[in-house]
Amino acid sequence: MNEPYIGRFAPSPTGPLHAGSLVAALASYLDARAHHGTWLVRIEDIDEGRAVPGAAEGILALLEQLGMHADGEIVWQSRRKALYQAAAERIALHTYPCGCNRREIADSRLGFAPDGAAIYPGTCRHGLAEGRSMRSLRLRVPDPGFDVISFQDRFAGEVTQRLSGESGDFVLKRADGFWAYQLAVVVDDAEQGVTDVVRGADLLDSTPRQIFLQRVLDVPTPRYLHVPVVRNELGEKLSKQTGALAVAPGDEQAAVAALSDATRFLGLQLAPVESLDAFWRAAVPAWANLLRERA
Ligand code: GLU
Repeated sequence: MNEPYIGRFAPSPTGPLHAGSLVAALASYLDARAHHGTWLVRIEDIDEGRAVPGAAEGILALLEQLGMHADGEIVWQSRRKALYQAAAERIALHTYPCGCNRREIADSRLGFAPDGAAIYPGTCRHGLAEGRSMRSLRLRVPDPGFDVISFQDRFAGEVTQRLSGESGDFVLKRADGFWAYQLAVVVDDAEQGVTDVVRGADLLDSTPRQIFLQRVLDVPTPRYLHVPVVRNELGEKLSKQTGALAVAPGDEQAAVAALSDATRFLGLQLAPVESLDAFWRAAVPAWANLLRERA
């Protein structure tokens, strides 16, 4: 019997799918199919300021066109705020209101977490200073010595982070009123029963914070597999900001070509194929083989 497997692809609709996000989508889809599991699609539009109108619909249409069909309903984070609110209330003893603004945090010169967020010095940990009001809601991380999170990534191997030094108390609700990615992703993965997270390595450094939050919320930790990030000639991660081109296959041949490029990037060797059906018939067992070889 196969172990239960629930995977997901969780794009932020900040622009159309490009070659980099296609690699993440493909890896999560292949992993789910190779495990005879379920593959969910969740639109991470919680940051409503960055969501681009029509981008989510474009991504969903493209996934369908490429033959990546989601199992079950598509979930939209912007419609699930009550779940995030309930989760934050449940762990209220571990959170505190923070009145600091960006400049004040940057002025503390503790440096930056790997994802670019300034490390929080803990100014408001013991209460808001006189005359300050709440801007964001933060989760208290354990003190040095008790703050090490390690996990086994299926691709990267062992990953270890010291939360107090490498992120500090992190934001669950932002100053603009939106729930933070870290909270939404953990609540959703738990609520959807996700057993396997397959995504780009740009999120490797967020994972220890997510694992810590899972422990505070008392929900299971999924397995993680972070695939390498596609970069342009300048070594930059592909994104709208770096001018990544959208994947926009005009016909089946172009769809097969886009998928074949993404599979090659993932290290799969496939004989050339003519149709989408033939592509999927070859790609799923090839991914299963790769997993066996790496095991
Ligand atoms: N929404 C995130 C992104 O598009 C991915 C989050 C995740 O897979 O955990 O970068």
